[in-house]
Amino acid sequence: MLLHGIDAERVHVRVEGEPAPGRYLLYWMGRSQRAHDNPALAWAVAEADRLGRPVVVLATLDTEAPEVSERALAFQLEGLQETARELAERGIAFLARAGDPAERVLELAADACLLVCDGAYLRRPRALRLRVAESAGVPVVEIEGDVVVPAEVASSRLEVAARTFRPRVQEHLGRFLGLPELRPPRVAAVDPGLGEGLDLARPDLRARELAGGRGPAPVSRHHPGGSRHAMERLERFADERLARYPEERRRIEGRSGSELSMYLRYGQISPLRVIERLRRTDVPPETAGAFVEQLVVRRELAVNYVVRQPDYDRYRGVPAWARATLAAHRADARERLVSDEALLEAATGDEAFDAAMLEMLETGAMHPTLRMYWGKRLLAWTADPEQGFERTLELNNRYFLDGGDANSFAGVAWCYGLHDRPFPERAVFGTVRSMTAAGLRRKYDPARYVAEVRRRVGAPVAPS
Ligand SMILES: Cc1cc2nc3c(=O)[nH]c(=O)nc-3n(C[C@H](O)[C@H](O)[C@H](O)COP(=O)(O)OP(=O)(O)OC[C@H]3O[C@@H](n4cnc5c(N)ncnc54)[C@H](O)[C@@H]3O)c2cc1C
Repeated sequence: MLLHGIDAERVHVRVEGEPAPGRYLLYWMGRSQRAHDNPALAWAVAEADRLGRPVVVLATLDTEAPEVSERALAFQLEGLQETARELAERGIAFLARAGDPAERVLELAADACLLVCDGAYLRRPRALRLRVAESAGVPVVEIEGDVVVPAEVASSRLEVAARTFRPRVQEHLGRFLGLPELRPPRVAAVDPGLGEGLDLARPDLRARELAGGRGPAPVSRHHPGGSRHAMERLERFADERLARYPEERRRIEGRSGSELSMYLRYGQISPLRVIERLRRTDVPPETAGAFVEQLVVRRELAVNYVVRQPDYDRYRGVPAWARATLAAHRADARERLVSDEALLEAATGDEAFDAAMLEMLETGAMHPTLRMYWGKRLLAWTADPEQGFERTLELNNRYFLDGGDANSFAGVAWCYGLHDRPFPERAVFGTVRSMTAAGLRRKYDPARYVAEVRRRVGAPVAPS
């Protein structure tokens, strides 16, 4: 069933009731930072039309989140600058504000007739939505716009692996592929009178000011934020590289994937738009299927993990069999223990690992295969698995532009056995899958990867 053109299973009434007399309908843009392909926005405009009110869009930047950084803020602000422009062209009022998102929303909710927000899966954004719903004093509707198959439709249990999740998600995939249509609003944008929003003219300056010294630095030169860049990447990927995707994933030199993860992380592109574009290519279905396996099955398996595992951000969220085998090997001698300084100077002495660190520190991203190697090495080179897990998650969420997502927690936990199976027993890892420098050399050409990263970040091609 469709509600205002949106599948009813994406629409959740959080606070019921008659619309209040407020001047406008408020759409709180939290997760899906885009002006198009956005079901919450499309629904908000249609409902505002029905109520005869204008829509006000408020985007919030959570500068009180523990992992906030200038890098992540700059990426979001670059995107919001474009979103603001696009909404203005459509006659929709927009403002962005920073701070505690719940407080910012409640300030504007006081004058609203109804509040619409987009969905979220992680603890902090969920708690913010709950706080807002409890205090808004108006009906609240939450609309999922971040995944293809809504999490509660895909599975009602904690899935153990892609093989158990895949058939469930595939069963529903077809009926959730529709893109929402955004109609021009019938009621003109409200005269703001809403107070100041953030000045988006200079995202770099604004990010520095809001971050207040909390690095790392922005990486716009490598990964500029915004839906336009996301779409350009998607176009290039679909036209030039999708056909080679399965074979490119088996190399570590050269680009490997779509590099869309940071845009998906902040909702600057919808996964539905990505699929729609792929369907217009003539690559064989099994090739497109290899990509959909990552974009839908793996990505939404990560969402299943954070939704169904309350300890998703703690070591104890890792499956019991994996924790048991890692505990049995806790006292094993480590090949080495690396200090935080050596990590942050990309100077552990393992060339591929150090190049991966450099890629992360300087560009905010990392080749997918190296990311697995990176996580596995951090397990091997830290005193115990608990500390290894925490350290990896902290680095992941601070430095990567796509950090702080469901994928981040599932990706790090994967290094500790999540969604995986036991392998032959080895030191330190027990029966958790290991990855070693020798294995990397056997399968790939790490020297080319090292040279390429160093060239890209402007470091001398041979490490000193
Ligand atoms: C230790 C570790 C940490 C990770 N941390 C993150 C993270 O913070 N954020 C993040 O988005 N991904 C994370 N991943 C998953 C994966 O490495 C990245 O999604 C991928 O490298 C992004 O590159 P891409 O966009 O070119 O991927 P593509 O190959 O083009 O895939 C398309 C999309 O599918 C999704 N995807 C791809 N691989 C995976 C995967 N293994 N699990 C879940 N979704 C996937 C991503 O959204 C990606 O953008 C992590 C993996 C590991 C092993």
